[in-house]
Amino acid sequence: MEDLEFRGLHEECGVFGAWHVADAARISYYGLHSLQHRGQEGCGIVTVGDDGAFHRYKGLGLVTEVFKDENLRSCPGSCAIGHVRYSTHGGGGLDNVQPFYFRHYSGDFALAHNGNITNARQLTDFLERKGSLFHSTSDSEILAHLVTKRGNEPRITAILEALNMLEGAFAFLIMTKNRIYACRDKYGLRPLVIGRRGDSYVVASETCALEATGATFLRDVDPGEVICIDAHGLRSNTYSRFRRNKMCAMEYIYFSRPDSDIEGCNVHAFRKETGRRLFRVAPVEADIVVGVPDSSLSAASGYAEESGLPYEMGLVKSKYVGRTFIQPSQEMRELGVKMKLSAVRSIVSGRRIVLIDDSIVRGTTSRKIVSMLREAGATEVHVRIASPPITHPCYYGVDISCYDELISARRSVEEVRQLIGADSLFFLSKEDTLASAPCRSDMCFACFTGDYPTALY
Ligand code: SF4
Repeated sequence: MEDLEFRGLHEECGVFGAWHVADAARISYYGLHSLQHRGQEGCGIVTVGDDGAFHRYKGLGLVTEVFKDENLRSCPGSCAIGHVRYSTHGGGGLDNVQPFYFRHYSGDFALAHNGNITNARQLTDFLERKGSLFHSTSDSEILAHLVTKRGNEPRITAILEALNMLEGAFAFLIMTKNRIYACRDKYGLRPLVIGRRGDSYVVASETCALEATGATFLRDVDPGEVICIDAHGLRSNTYSRFRRNKMCAMEYIYFSRPDSDIEGCNVHAFRKETGRRLFRVAPVEADIVVGVPDSSLSAASGYAEESGLPYEMGLVKSKYVGRTFIQPSQEMRELGVKMKLSAVRSIVSGRRIVLIDDSIVRGTTSRKIVSMLREAGATEVHVRIASPPITHPCYYGVDISCYDELISARRSVEEVRQLIGADSLFFLSKEDTLASAPCRSDMCFACFTGDYPTALY
């Protein structure tokens, strides 16, 4: 029970939308494929055909596994929203794969969500007492029930009022037969961007999906903003005067693709700067710099550049195994490391290594990598982490679950060093991490500090 109390809802997802695009399902397929790193459990696309009818296809698995040519052809239309989903426990299964589709007398609509609503239980209780029936265990459905409770109010008014009742982190896409609404939480915790493609628009969790679909970046959806996309173009509405710029630091550190720009700051450039700063604050006598593939390679290149040490490919990753961080159980995670990474003996043997990683969550991966490098002949392994120690759970939709699973939650850096078996260990400070994104003055660092920007209920 204690374990569950400290758990978040374990999802980190990606959303994509296309408005007024020929074969919107196919464009969404490409967009979702480029967001695959945000969720691999399931995916779906809903389109609106020229006759105003909704079409949906979804399934469990990767985008390329779920969608075949005939599935895309079964979703005609020029407007679409799509979703890639990740979930670890309780929330699996096809019922929870999005987008959700709702029939309602005030007009049908589809909905896709990335993030986590912190007052979900209170809102679900309230809605069930008012007669709502939930079809999934995902809190994403809550917004739909809040919207439909507003009956015949104009849809935008219903959406703005419903969003005002939600606490937490979210990027929502809502599609009616005439328009797409792109909504972002008032803290700005989850990213959401709009791109232009000729006279059409696309919306996505990351800018890499704009590139993949031939769109150019137009703007970010601002915190607390709802952008309505329809035949009139883009129209902006705000649902709250309280707005912050608390973008999730883990989007920069780990989640997002290096070619994505998040609120004006490129992810690769950010990571590279964390590596440079790591060398300045924690230099060490060594022969080579090795990064843990893939998300730490940018930071490793920054460390190598700043130190003048050669960057070497001392670890190789199998391309065909999912990310260790998002395997569903401890047993799978233990197995996952070996399936995924191997040390290159001819490179690491007899060498003193600076090993760069983006973060340490449970410590399982770090311990195995350090021992793998030693087994391959490394004489010293100095670990440098391009973010602060993770000491608290995330309640905003990222799989950083409970205190007991976090190696740094109740241990000193020296104790963690001993547990992972490194010769030395250093974490970048929060200040240096934030300073690595020159375009930002603030971010959410709650899993590093316990200072949560929202109410937690
Ligand atoms: S608590 Fe951590 S993972 Fe969660 S939103 Fe904040 S920075 Fe991101």
